[in-house]
Amino acid sequence: MLQQTQVKTVLPFWERWMQELPTVEAAARASSEKIHKLWEGLGYYARVRNLQKAAQLILDRHNGKFPKRFEDILALPGIGRYTAGAISSIAFNQPAPILDGNVMRVLTRIFGIAENPREKKTNQRLWQIAEELVSHAARQNSKLPNCSHLNQSLMELGALVCIPRNPQCATCPVKKLCAAFIENRVAELPNLGKREKATARRFVAFVVERDGQFLVRQRPTGVVNAHLWEFPNVEIYQNGDGKKGNGHIPFARAAKELGIEFKNAKPICTVKHSITRYRMTLEAFGVQTKRAPQILDAVWLPYAELESLAFTSAHRKILGHVRSAAR
Ligand code: SF4
Repeated sequence: MLQQTQVKTVLPFWERWMQELPTVEAAARASSEKIHKLWEGLGYYARVRNLQKAAQLILDRHNGKFPKRFEDILALPGIGRYTAGAISSIAFNQPAPILDGNVMRVLTRIFGIAENPREKKTNQRLWQIAEELVSHAARQNSKLPNCSHLNQSLMELGALVCIPRNPQCATCPVKKLCAAFIENRVAELPNLGKREKATARRFVAFVVERDGQFLVRQRPTGVVNAHLWEFPNVEIYQNGDGKKGNGHIPFARAAKELGIEFKNAKPICTVKHSITRYRMTLEAFGVQTKRAPQILDAVWLPYAELESLAFTSAHRKILGHVRSAAR
């Protein structure tokens, strides 16, 4: 849950999940609909599918007990080098290194590394530094779980003190060791190179209603937000006039493409959201129809059933507007 997501965002999802699926076995055996519903709004839905596959694998290969060996943890679906290192060190106090965005920032600053940490050679160097640090912690004569403490400290320092903009150097516990601070290079590091430019994309969605039922569909496997529900929609030209774009269809044809009579459409809302480098604008229109449009894989469902489905975040907002309008 915490991959790419802040703790404060995760907490209510975690609470709900643990109430509904408190054991590995419960997670392994839950329906696809249930796990997606519990994850609804958290994004990056491949994570929840991997989590369930991992639970199934733990049940099959490890008798339902979470494995302790680094290699066994790394073999679980959805768990890469960083997460396996975090689990091994934090939960089992093993000398496994970690390197995520926060730790990367902390280490490039403390060690004054001027090269881009995302480039292979520098990245390998950072992993090596992280490994040396945790191995050193493991060698200390102490009854404390040093590997766990070291890695948690690096993560916390990056999350709370050594933040990207305006880091709290004055109160930082490692400022005397920090090359960036001593050499007055904090603002320059890490050197992440140029950011990829954001791309604007525009979509039109239709809330089609007939005798109190709504037309919705489930996103197919292999696409972003796979298995989540949405209202029928299509991507259109960014400017809506059909003159620009490449392979997208103009605005007026959006409804035609879906077999919906555009004349009847009433604006519901506009939702703006981002996925990776894409800045999306989704315009939703309500349509009441007697003639059912034929939309591939779409089904008619009463409003009460829509509430129990896992929608993409943007389409969940549209559903919120539909609910308010119905009151
Ligand atoms: Fe980060 Fe400043 Fe601390 Fe260095 S002194 S680790 S730049 S917060």
